[in-house]
Amino acid sequence: MARIEVIGGGLAGSEAAWQIACRGEPVRLYEMRPGKNTPAHKTGYLAELVCSNSLGSEKESTGGGLLKLELERLNSLLLRAAKKTRVPAGNALAVDREKFPAEVTRQLEEHPLIEIKREEIREIPKNNITIIATGPLTSEPLIQELQKLTGQESLYFFDAAAPLVYRDSIDMNIAFFGSRYEEQGGDYINCPLTEEEYQDFYSALVKAEVVPLHGFEEQKLFAGCMPIENLAKKGYKTLAFGPLKPVGLRDREGKRPFAVVQLRRDNREGTLYNLVGFQTRLKWPEQKRVFRMIPGLENAELARYGVMHRNLYIDSPKTLKPTLQLNSRPEVFCAGQLIGVEGYLESALTGLWAGINALFLSRGESPLVAPREMALGSLIDYITTPSKNFQPINMNFGILPQPKKRIKKKQERREKQVNNAREALQAFLEKFGLMDDFV
Ligand SMILES: Cc1cc2nc3c(=O)[nH]c(=O)nc-3n(C[C@H](O)[C@H](O)[C@H](O)COP(=O)(O)OP(=O)(O)OC[C@H]3O[C@@H](n4cnc5c(N)ncnc54)[C@H](O)[C@@H]3O)c2cc1C
Repeated sequence: MARIEVIGGGLAGSEAAWQIACRGEPVRLYEMRPGKNTPAHKTGYLAELVCSNSLGSEKESTGGGLLKLELERLNSLLLRAAKKTRVPAGNALAVDREKFPAEVTRQLEEHPLIEIKREEIREIPKNNITIIATGPLTSEPLIQELQKLTGQESLYFFDAAAPLVYRDSIDMNIAFFGSRYEEQGGDYINCPLTEEEYQDFYSALVKAEVVPLHGFEEQKLFAGCMPIENLAKKGYKTLAFGPLKPVGLRDREGKRPFAVVQLRRDNREGTLYNLVGFQTRLKWPEQKRVFRMIPGLENAELARYGVMHRNLYIDSPKTLKPTLQLNSRPEVFCAGQLIGVEGYLESALTGLWAGINALFLSRGESPLVAPREMALGSLIDYITTPSKNFQPINMNFGILPQPKKRIKKKQERREKQVNNAREALQAFLEKFGLMDDFV
């Protein structure tokens, strides 16, 4: 049998190769660094962290905590290396920036079933079972190959995402449902602003701190989509005539507000809403501070912060099966940031899963769909569900199924969701004997 090939030795690809090899099958891992670098990587290590050295919270009732629970049960190499190289960071799992990727690289290099080739892949191998995990900074020749496989219009180059808000953190005594020019009801949640509230919000927004641009992002980033803070800087009333225009909307007293911030439903369950037109480069604490000045959002909890950065990803709802196989070439799996998950651990977990499923396929078995109750299953469900405006997602409790019986208290609800995920994972592992051959 031909070796399984993994392209890209980042967080997803490293984890994929490890899972295959530890289940007794040979694997070849291609990484173009250090011969050819990306604009963000600095070393030749596998699984290099391009920015923060934090892998998020370890508390189980957080998205990061649940990801770690699942990675742990599935014997993740990255999680093990992170624990070995951790540095103190309160509730978060932060790692020594050098030692973490060095440990991952050592483990992969020492495994007898893993062959590492330092080579840029310019063409996707024909007929072999292959995992593509080349990340948000995939090299140009491979982008063209991906274009051939998924179609030109199925590749996105920039991520300009507005913040996502948990529905139950919006104050519906102030905000109201309504669509423009509709007499009653409507799909949007509207937060009305008086002129005074608009003024305060406006001056906080234009003064708020933004994330600096990387040199390689500068020219192209804003071509299609302007951040809300840049739009605001064009003039005091630009927002009130643009994304915050009140036309066609009446508040509870039947009056037209000075401005309106609209939120659009983001998932089937209606647990997440996105702030329409609010793609932003504000620093995360600033997003929390400034967006909470909007009436109705005083206690808003952000499930995902707004981001704008270079980020190649495929249109997964159109091109990917829930098993992470490409519709057009089922022997090709994709994983990591490339499929529209955002974050180090999200990338690692989908890489791990692509590894297991590629192995199933190579043994003549059907690749598996992860249960919806798991963080893994929910992430994959989110990115493969048809969507008009597909944008990458990080792990959050809004994408997990809600408990069957309504639980009002957030903390208790999350504990139940974590429990459901744990039980679903356990049942799944037993049903398919997933850990039986792991050495
Ligand atoms: C600038 C930037 C900052 C980020 N900061 C954070 C952060 O602070 N926290 C966070 O959680 N997430 C962050 N992310 C998002 C994301 O979690 C990381 O990008 C993560 O590394 C994605 O994992 P991956 O395995 O999909 O891709 P990567 O880790 O980027 O791995 C892809 C690998 O493929 C290699 N490669 C590319 N093309 C080829 C080719 N043709 N042939 C062979 N090899 C190839 C690359 O060299 C790279 O090693 C950031 C992303 C970017 C772009």
